[in-house]
Amino acid sequence: DPAAHACRRVLLKVSGEALMGTGSFGIEPAMVEMIARDVAEVAQAGTQVCLVIGGGNIFRGVAAAAKGMDRTQGDYAGMLATVINALMMQNALERVGVDTRVMSAIQMSAIAEPYIRRRAVRHMEKGRVVIFAAGTGNPFFTTDTAAALRASEMECDTLFKGTQVDGVYSADPRRDPAATRYDSLTYMDVLARDLNVMDAAAISLARENKLPIVVFNIHSPGAFPAVMRGEGAFTRIV
Ligand code: UDP
Repeated sequence: DPAAHACRRVLLKVSGEALMGTGSFGIEPAMVEMIARDVAEVAQAGTQVCLVIGGGNIFRGVAAAAKGMDRTQGDYAGMLATVINALMMQNALERVGVDTRVMSAIQMSAIAEPYIRRRAVRHMEKGRVVIFAAGTGNPFFTTDTAAALRASEMECDTLFKGTQVDGVYSADPRRDPAATRYDSLTYMDVLARDLNVMDAAAISLARENKLPIVVFNIHSPGAFPAVMRGEGAFTRIV
């Protein structure tokens, strides 16, 4: 199976919402710990791992703009939300024995290293898990685009997107019982059918850089190591 190909280096995108666990806002520590254990398992098996963490469990610029807040200001607040999540994830990873560095796209030298591509690569070569915080550092982007960007810069073999559903469906499976999951899609399928998986900027960037995307449900223990082995349900976008 293509997802099972030995991956030298991968990027895992964890949506902010995944960190809420059973809650509807903020962070459920047990959920962060579970994801950290899965990341540790993959890293300790010899794959270089970097992470992009979303911030939607705390703040989204678009949602704030809908209530009258300035969009760019809201987006900066959203980027700061990803830093909070990154620090939580760093803490959880270190508790399971994984050496970790947080690199922020917005300089915050007291708590995170600045993002420097070559240094990020070096960290991973030394077996450290790198967490990319603050998205791209620019408003009007998402952490999905940050994930496609960093995965391309890091020359990752695959971008894994851990979400609430076990892949890409023809319709929202929570609302439409007839919805079916795709095993495989092309970037163009996703763009042309406007499938709700990642924003168009992220898909386009992945397409230009021939970066495969694997969408899977990150909510059960062992999900990330399993999908790395090509097991379980997922959708592959190539
Ligand atoms: N954000 C941004 N630029 C980026 C990445 C994120 O402005 O490059 C802001 C944006 O407001 C976004 C928020 O940060 O809504 C949280 O990120 P995102 O919505 O991508 O998180 P997720 O959906 O993965 O939890």
